[in-house]
Amino acid sequence: MRKYGWPLFAAAFLFLLALPASAEFRAGAARRPVTPDLTKHAPVYMAGFGQNRVATRIHDDLWARCLALAVDRTPLVLCGVDSIGLFLEDVERISAEARTRLGGAVDVIVAATHDHEAPDTMGLWGPEMGVSGINEEYNRFVVEQTAAAAVEAVRSLRPARVKTSKVSTRELDGFLNDTRPPVVHDSELVVLSATGRDGRAIGALVNWANHPETLGSKNTLVTADYPAYFYLRMEELTGGVAVLINGAIGGMQSSLGAKVTDPETGQPAPADSFRMAEIIGRRVAELAAGALSGEKPRDVNRLEFREKKISIPVTNAGYRMAAQAGLFKGRKPMEGDGAVTVVGYARLGSDRRRLLEIAMVPGELYPELSVGGVARFAGADFPDAPIEPALKKVMKAPYRMLFGLANDEIGYIIPRAEWDEEAPWLQNAPKRWYGEVNSTGPETAPRISDTFRQLIESKRVR
Ligand SMILES: [Zn+2]
Repeated sequence: MRKYGWPLFAAAFLFLLALPASAEFRAGAARRPVTPDLTKHAPVYMAGFGQNRVATRIHDDLWARCLALAVDRTPLVLCGVDSIGLFLEDVERISAEARTRLGGAVDVIVAATHDHEAPDTMGLWGPEMGVSGINEEYNRFVVEQTAAAAVEAVRSLRPARVKTSKVSTRELDGFLNDTRPPVVHDSELVVLSATGRDGRAIGALVNWANHPETLGSKNTLVTADYPAYFYLRMEELTGGVAVLINGAIGGMQSSLGAKVTDPETGQPAPADSFRMAEIIGRRVAELAAGALSGEKPRDVNRLEFREKKISIPVTNAGYRMAAQAGLFKGRKPMEGDGAVTVVGYARLGSDRRRLLEIAMVPGELYPELSVGGVARFAGADFPDAPIEPALKKVMKAPYRMLFGLANDEIGYIIPRAEWDEEAPWLQNAPKRWYGEVNSTGPETAPRISDTFRQLIESKRVR
């Protein structure tokens, strides 16, 4: 020891000084219903399929569910909301409300689960084409309730430890059907749970990718879809508040068309049924809880979050017309040729190592942009486009989450090399593929990819 003398001691001392004064990790969680009132908010137009699907009854509650994490000053609150999508403007209202009520800095991430059996909060599925389906009173209610859940999660912060785990199984993969080539799934389930130092469960956040649209396009009962069953089962198994944040669900990862076997009958679960939603939701919870049960709680003391607003060129004529016609009711103004959105990055770990990294993208990312596998097909509009790096490969922590619809919903995020608006169609298909009609444009993926790499490489925290 002696021979190293002062330099080592001084270096160690400086290192200690560099640590935050109270690097104690704390966590909190809360949930609030965002179920519409079918009288007060009438008529409730259901989102995600065609026009004029009016809700007739509530089957189960819709939720805003938040897990708050904090080391030192600014808490990071991760909220999943049973909604088709929330535009940046509504998310900023949620953040502002939470900041005001907490009287201090807080970073709130709001990710809609993309529930297709919930009210139209984006305006695209009103009574007829060209008429908005947004009920401002309902959107305001979602904003208030989500802010209330975020505030309560922060107020309940207490010293905690975390567990992380991940699962990839054929069963999980079989719950989703990919309707566009290349067939790439990002069906890995990644889970983060927090337990108080008193041993009591706080909450568990599961990140998994699949469209909550199991009930299909004819259903008129308001439901959270498979997440409803996930919440119930997860809370039964782990305690605390269960949060679900959807992943790379573009191109298009759906329970519609998936072949799901009912474990009770051994027969295929009927299409468009609550039974299928139940099987998927319960199994996602059971696999997540099972994976956690083998893990030991860990101490963490580093939490970083960065985000960047960017402008994305909107070449989609339908989107521009929708904005002009007022379908979004003032949200998503198209300034110049673009619209403003946001990309985020968070990481959690200790002084020695990163444990978990999170990429936050403002829409439905094609899974090949998450895990790799972008394909060059004959018929692509930009055959020589550079291939954007896969976000889960850019991250290096042992656990990596991809939050879809994070703080905004701008639609599909399609690899530029797979963009196809002009014939011939990819793989010389007889008709155009579904996707581009619900995407802002071919520049979206490269812009988001570049921004994410800047965020991850930046030394700047916040
Ligand atoms: Zn979708």
